[in-house]
Amino acid sequence: MTEAAVAPDDGDGSDELMASGAAGGLARFSRYRAMKTVRKLAEDIGVRVRTTRNETRAARYLAGRFRAFGYEVKVRRFEVDGAISRNVIATRSDAIRFPFVLGGHMDTVPRAPGANDNASGVAVVLEVARLLKDDPRGRFFRFVAFGSEEYGKNGKHHVGSQVMVNRMTRRARRRTPGMLSVDMIADGRPLIAGYSGFASGVVARDVYRKLDRAGIGVTFRVLCDCSDHGPFERRGIPAAFLWSGDEPNYHDPSDTVENMSVKDLARTGRGVRAYVRSFNRALIRRYRRH
Ligand SMILES: [Zn+2]
Repeated sequence: MTEAAVAPDDGDGSDELMASGAAGGLARFSRYRAMKTVRKLAEDIGVRVRTTRNETRAARYLAGRFRAFGYEVKVRRFEVDGAISRNVIATRSDAIRFPFVLGGHMDTVPRAPGANDNASGVAVVLEVARLLKDDPRGRFFRFVAFGSEEYGKNGKHHVGSQVMVNRMTRRARRRTPGMLSVDMIADGRPLIAGYSGFASGVVARDVYRKLDRAGIGVTFRVLCDCSDHGPFERRGIPAAFLWSGDEPNYHDPSDTVENMSVKDLARTGRGVRAYVRSFNRALIRRYRRH
């Protein structure tokens, strides 16, 4: 699909019904805007290996977008493989003290432009941040673009999310209600909502239910410790992983914009939007009990 073929704020029928404001009052997910983010990351910037100039460029771009939406942005640097990588963390100035973390990783493996893995997930996170920028529910969230999720020279993966969890105080770890990692979600396959089984599955089950009720094809599974939810779960924070499984272009130079599915990007966006719409104080309290 080309940009010219898609009108700004293009959505599908179900989103348009909700756009009236009666059902939840959230603006609809724009596949046009989300695709702009995917193209910026996977085509203009391209391969974004951790600690390289291109990972930094991605971080700078995303920080600028979050700021343009009115979020307070912190770019948190950390050392890995003898160099510097970054997490981009965006929170509203009126956010609750310990918000729910909605994130996706921005780095790629060498030679892969990473359209599906994971410009797609970052694009959903950024677009959902836009939908929530002026909505009362936006106060419950902290949006993160993680650096260094992929394996590097030190043999470790999801380093950025591990650093974020390590830098939380004990109180923050106890009070952070949950986390969702959106990673590889636009490749022509059905969605899977899951978690690693180290902490409570309450968030993963809610993600599953909300997507299922929104009419989006999704299955629930206990999944690998293979995305940024892992470090959160290991510290007892209920976290979830939204994914569409292994695919032929995984970690390959063929993980390009042409080989991803715009339709599936929009589907996942609608799903995450349905999930965040359900947030209220009672939900935050319920997650904190787990
Ligand atoms: Zn990934």
